[in-house]
Amino acid sequence: MKREGLILILSAPSGAGKTSLCRELFQTFPDMKESISYTTRAPRTGEVEGEAYHFVTVEEFDRMIDDDAFAEWAVVHGNKYGTALHTLEVARKNGVDLVLDIDCQGALKLKEQFEGGVYVFIMPPSMVELRRRLEHRSTDAPEVIEVRINRATEEIKQACWYDYIIFNDEFSTACGELAAIVTAHRRKTFRMMEKVGKLFDL
Ligand code: 5GP
Repeated sequence: MKREGLILILSAPSGAGKTSLCRELFQTFPDMKESISYTTRAPRTGEVEGEAYHFVTVEEFDRMIDDDAFAEWAVVHGNKYGTALHTLEVARKNGVDLVLDIDCQGALKLKEQFEGGVYVFIMPPSMVELRRRLEHRSTDAPEVIEVRINRATEEIKQACWYDYIIFNDEFSTACGELAAIVTAHRRKTFRMMEKVGKLFDL
């Protein structure tokens, strides 16, 4: 029996520290793979096609929507982002554990349509700290910071339907909690049966 790959979905408001947690997760589990999304946003300096994203035109993206090629897609900050159904199906079938860094709207669509993913929401330590981080790291005008805080508040309201919530209060504790969730799902009996079967291989 072939082991079924784990599909781990991570969402967080901007400033919660998801990128650092993800980086640490790949250090802890080097065999986990990052799902490469499709986006209509322009590549930032240093971003390479097929690494951070597959960069496509709006027309190409819309054609993929029409072809039902996406497991989920959403408009984030005015650009379209989507996860190809093919990416999830291939990983699951080949026993590859995949991490999706997607927004709440997309995560909800996926939860409604795609069975068996594990949904984790990363929380900032507090709204005061979130504001401090957003102000600290950007040169944006106060109105823009306000827009981000409001968006974060809306996203936090979505956390109730995720399977797990991690507060990124103390970074190493949050990393440990995320690793514990991954390990628990990797040890689910149905994911272990392939290895059990090999006990009897000659
Ligand atoms: P950025 O453009 O800064 O890389 O990403 C902006 C936002 O888009 C992030 O919050 C990220 O989680 C979200 N995002 C990236 N890929 C996808 C995707 O495939 N689907 C959805 N729904 N959101 C995505």
